[in-house]
Amino acid sequence: MDKVNDTLNRFLFENTPVRGNLVNLTNTFQLALNKQNLPAGLKQALGELMAASALLTATLKMNGSLVLQIQSKGTLKLLVVECTSDFGIRATAKWNGEISDEQNLFDLIEHGQFVITLDPKDGGQTYQGIVPIEGDDISTILENYMLRSEQIDTKIWLASDGKSAAGMLLQKLPDTMNQVSKSEESAEHDVDAWNRVGHLADTITNDELLNLDTETLLHRLFHEEDVRLFEASNTKFFCSCTRTSVANMLRMLGNEEISSILEEQGKIEVNCDFCNTHYQFDKVDAAQLMVSDIAAQGSKEIH
Ligand SMILES: [Zn+2]
Repeated sequence: MDKVNDTLNRFLFENTPVRGNLVNLTNTFQLALNKQNLPAGLKQALGELMAASALLTATLKMNGSLVLQIQSKGTLKLLVVECTSDFGIRATAKWNGEISDEQNLFDLIEHGQFVITLDPKDGGQTYQGIVPIEGDDISTILENYMLRSEQIDTKIWLASDGKSAAGMLLQKLPDTMNQVSKSEESAEHDVDAWNRVGHLADTITNDELLNLDTETLLHRLFHEEDVRLFEASNTKFFCSCTRTSVANMLRMLGNEEISSILEEQGKIEVNCDFCNTHYQFDKVDAAQLMVSDIAAQGSKEIH
């Protein structure tokens, strides 16, 4: 069977609390990153973080977006990935100074923090969790976060080779209230299933993760288990920037700042960090930004 790219697949192990997701990003990865001039190590790290964002989004019941950030005070300043609930993904990086192609993400981080933000679009409250970076790969950081902050046993495998990115996630669903009275035997059965499936999954290689289609991969890893595979969702590159959102962002700078940029440069130019779209505001456009300054108070920055 041919590999189907740019898909997110959910699956579960029958009669156990273990569920999983698999993701492959190829066009999504290339459209998101190929217009950005990224050092190899950061491109790989962003690929892994993009795969992770889709895997985590698939575990959430939310209409909105999930933002994963790695912030640091070293050469690397910021990695950021945003994934919407229908798997539209964008990503970018900020750094200071030279980065050679041999340097990986963890050579560039000092005092790193991992930030996860859930931004519901239906008026719900924004949630943000911040943890220090522990571990020396992205999957370990995420596993620690899920266990410490969410109390959910999670295992994550990520791979990225410069052309595509892929990942797998396994989660043991926590006992719900009505399962408290669960027999000891059945709790033991759940832990056994979690450990057994985790050991099987640990045999996966980066090459398999990146190159095998979902069914072949699941069969190779779990052929003795009773796996139910759900219909796939498609992933895509999506940047939410618009001329209106950029105008709103400029308004937040205030009339004084807008006037001073105009005086210096005769126009205002903004490039979207994520998709590299170029927005230009000439003097007439900029005057409109300033005229509507008061009306814009209280408008939300959506860039
Ligand atoms: Zn954009």
